[in-house]
Amino acid sequence: MIPKKHIAILGSTGSIGTQALEVVRAHPEHFLVEVLTGNGNADLLIQQAKEFKPNAVVITDEKKYQQVKDALSGEDIKVYAGQDALSQVVEMESIDMVLTAIVGYAGLASTLAAIKKGKQIALANKETLVVAGELVTSMAKEHGVNIYPVDSEHSAIFQCLAGEFHNRIEKIYLTASGGPFRGKSLDFLKKVKKEQALKHPNWDMGAKITIDSSTLMNKGLEVIEAKWLFHLQPDQIDVVIHPQSIIHSIVQFEDGSMKAQMGLPDMKLPIQYALTYPHRLPSQFPRFDFMKYPSLTFEKPDIETFRCLPLAFEALRQGGNMSCILNAANEVVVRAFLHDKIAFTAIPDILEKAMQRITFIGKPSYSDYVETDQETRNLTTGIIGY
Ligand code: NAD
Ligand code: MG
Repeated sequence: MIPKKHIAILGSTGSIGTQALEVVRAHPEHFLVEVLTGNGNADLLIQQAKEFKPNAVVITDEKKYQQVKDALSGEDIKVYAGQDALSQVVEMESIDMVLTAIVGYAGLASTLAAIKKGKQIALANKETLVVAGELVTSMAKEHGVNIYPVDSEHSAIFQCLAGEFHNRIEKIYLTASGGPFRGKSLDFLKKVKKEQALKHPNWDMGAKITIDSSTLMNKGLEVIEAKWLFHLQPDQIDVVIHPQSIIHSIVQFEDGSMKAQMGLPDMKLPIQYALTYPHRLPSQFPRFDFMKYPSLTFEKPDIETFRCLPLAFEALRQGGNMSCILNAANEVVVRAFLHDKIAFTAIPDILEKAMQRITFIGKPSYSDYVETDQETRNLTTGIIGY
């Protein structure tokens, strides 16, 4: 019998969070929800709390605290507010695993707090590893914590590695759909509006990752994420465009053999696998039909036009706080683009400036990451002028 897992979902009101709750809903005998958290969407958090009856909820936007508190007054649910509460609730004795589904740098502190308490991590919040991969993975090792990837590409690699732990990885191929602007020219991209960038061909995700997918920055962040999850060198990681998003990624071993994991694009599958590893639970997800996909195709990424991808490789090669700089600048430019403050093609230019101007630190401490993040946000906001 598989023991019931007690889980905390940080960012339960987002795209990953709500899909994780669908998994829980489909398998009530396997999960007990201890904590749910949301930032701004109080109504959804309240609704989720009433359905899943967690021990505690956190609404990080403190203005919404009273609304949540009042709505849950008849329930036996503790209600907390603010960023610091995230790091406190993950310490609860009863939690086995924390699903980190917050978007961006905001997820770092609570992930570290969970690791320090020895909680297993199902990691969706890739920015945590981009910002401070060395610190997060070394702390996980120190506290005997496993980090189970939720990102579909990394879940694919992880699934391909089952039973292969003593066999060296020669290289991995991360697949990328190419996003909505695959094959487009720089001239086309100059005029792109956020509404176009927000339409992803294969995945329905939060706004930030959708924009990152359209610039290929998402793949860049995933390259850095893969380095830390699987202990790889930059030249062991390659990216291949695969517009159908059926092959989720590939591992190549030293004998030349390649293993790929495939299936229809549905985040519930990698979420469920991370929550239940090493078990596979039955699911009702639609099945792949070869006849509907007579050809799976592959292309080289266009790194001249989509410069965020090579910038991420550059940050990875430099190491230190460089990918923290890249991430902070990227969070600012994505927000600016979503508010119509900058052109789509300005995104890599601004990232490059931030990478050149912020002081490089070879061996950053936690406080160096915090400072680098803040300095980079200030600089980038200044460059944009908003
Ligand atoms: P989303 O925007 O849909 O949801 C984000 C969640 O985080 C929400 O619950 C929101 O309330 C919360 N949040 C936002 N800002 C916060 C803050 N400052 N403090 C505390 N909580 C905050 O995002 P998403 O698409 O679900 O992505 C979540 C993470 O998972 C991201 O790191 C993303 O890269 C990763 N991811 C997502 C997908 C996907 O299909 N959506 C796939 C792979 C990886
Ligand atoms: Mg992914």
